[in-house]
Amino acid sequence: MSSLAIGVDIGGTGIRSALVDPEGVIVKHHAEPTPARLGREAIVDTVLGGIHRMIAEARLLEREVQGIGVGSAGQINASSGIVEFAVDTLPDWQGTPIRGIIRDYCGHLPIWVDNDVNAIALAEQHYGAGRDYQHFICLALGTGIGGAIVESGRLVRGSFGGAGEFGHLSVQLDGPRCSCGNYGCLELYASGTGMTRLARETLQAAGHADHDELALYTSHDLLRDWQAGDALAARTMCRVVQALGTAIAGIIHIFNPQAIVIGGGVADAGEPLLAAVREAAHSRTSAKMREACAILPAAIGSQAGVIGAATQVWTDGGGSFEGGPGGMPL
Ligand SMILES: [Zn+2]
Repeated sequence: MSSLAIGVDIGGTGIRSALVDPEGVIVKHHAEPTPARLGREAIVDTVLGGIHRMIAEARLLEREVQGIGVGSAGQINASSGIVEFAVDTLPDWQGTPIRGIIRDYCGHLPIWVDNDVNAIALAEQHYGAGRDYQHFICLALGTGIGGAIVESGRLVRGSFGGAGEFGHLSVQLDGPRCSCGNYGCLELYASGTGMTRLARETLQAAGHADHDELALYTSHDLLRDWQAGDALAARTMCRVVQALGTAIAGIIHIFNPQAIVIGGGVADAGEPLLAAVREAAHSRTSAKMREACAILPAAIGSQAGVIGAATQVWTDGGGSFEGGPGGMPL
């Protein structure tokens, strides 16, 4: 029997832990809501609880655990294993020495820590939509928007792990102010939160004055109404799609990738959304670059984060430690 890796995916709403085999198959899985309101210690306790549970499960299965890989929301320094920056969905998470804490808890195992979308990209690279590509970009469209860059088969992280924040590409010079300081960021239009805001604005401008009803209208309703042919939803989605197309055209011109892999909850809208985004991106991209780049759906789905977190164990953190400033992870 092959040995197993423990993957942990730390997000703003849930913390998943799993035992994953070298083929990327989940053998055991556990998920809990993130106790975000209770702060750092409670989040750490949930993470360590998940790891403890997976170690016990592996023992029951009589399988060896090869190491622990963590993917966390926020900007993560993969060399130090420290959270460099995190938004309010994980309060007090910034500065948390994730790897140090886990090492104190179970120091006998090697530990890798990275950003959650980098983990998704690793999963897609080894088991999913990125398998045929050396150069590709992952876009995760969820509550917020995250990104990851794979160049020559390796993750590009930047100086401290902040690379690939495509949610903060500006797609409208005079758009609303974003929490990052910029104006008109992609995230304000094409994340779940952004789409909800746009949809409510459109409805309000069209004379829908029932504030209680408006307050309940979300991006899920928007996507449902759009696919049902609703004209107002189509007007909102036109802006969402143009925002995505503009950002993707920029990404294609910067990276000349072979593929853009789009995942996350918003992307569950499937081929109708993807086809519209493809058309918008293509109309803004120079011919040669456009022809070289496929725009594809992610293949792995909602478990990509935890599978990718574990994939760090099999790939030595996506290869980033080889000769890098961080040296070996322990
Ligand atoms: Zn921004």
